[in-house]
Amino acid sequence: TAFADLGLAEWAIQTCKELGMRKPTPVQTHCIPKILAGRDVLGIAHTGSGKTAAFALPILNRLAEDPYGVFALVITPTRELAFQLAEQFRALGSCLHLKCSVVVGGMDMITQAKALASRPHVVVATPGRLKVLLEENPDIPKVFQRTKEDGYNILEKIVGRIVTMSEWNRIVILNNITMPGKQDKYVEIVFVTANRVLDVGFEEELRVVFQCLPKNRQTLLFSATMTSDLQTLLELSANKAYFYEA
Ligand code: AMP
Repeated sequence: TAFADLGLAEWAIQTCKELGMRKPTPVQTHCIPKILAGRDVLGIAHTGSGKTAAFALPILNRLAEDPYGVFALVITPTRELAFQLAEQFRALGSCLHLKCSVVVGGMDMITQAKALASRPHVVVATPGRLKVLLEENPDIPKVFQRTKEDGYNILEKIVGRIVTMSEWNRIVILNNITMPGKQDKYVEIVFVTANRVLDVGFEEELRVVFQCLPKNRQTLLFSATMTSDLQTLLELSANKAYFYEA
């Protein structure tokens, strides 16, 4: 299987090539088409299996096609993981005007509230800090609503770089058709090493965060092992998930 067989746009395939990713790993081969199709996915795969790209690539791909509607929130238990995830999103989204913010404990809250207010396309967060920000800033939940401007910002750069004119037309048409229905409604939510998210007692935080998110969302859970905590999270957030295990 090649990246070109998975349904990704040309700019995403090019980016993989530039990053030295010659062919998709098994978790990518199985999960990317399902995520592109809008399915909830539960993926069990070890570190180093390429699971970050397995969800980041289809999220960025969908963001570029439907930037009015799609927004991603990535929840992870530790600060270190949050920064690593954001770095991969930025690398894979280098040919988009991608705004990616990290919201974690131990750093200035006002700066983070401002970053969220700037309406990033991707937010990578630890649950505790995200909950506090959502509760203390009544305007922040509005961040989960997308506007027309968010879309233009992200598309401009792809067109400047890789996308051909016919692809651009397709994107514009697609957005015109899909915009009214999807606006303000859609969010992709990803949990990475989801079992550990619950291990550290984040269940209550996650319930608060879920209340601020649109009901119409796609949930992706990626973890190294299947645990009963993961089952709880699945019941809390996901819908008939596609199950992949390495
Ligand atoms: P992860 O499993 O997400 O921690 O990824 C482990 C490492 O594999 C990361 O540094 C990625 O850049 C790299 N990687 C991901 N997908 C591929 C691929 N298809 N080919 C080669 N390297 C990859």
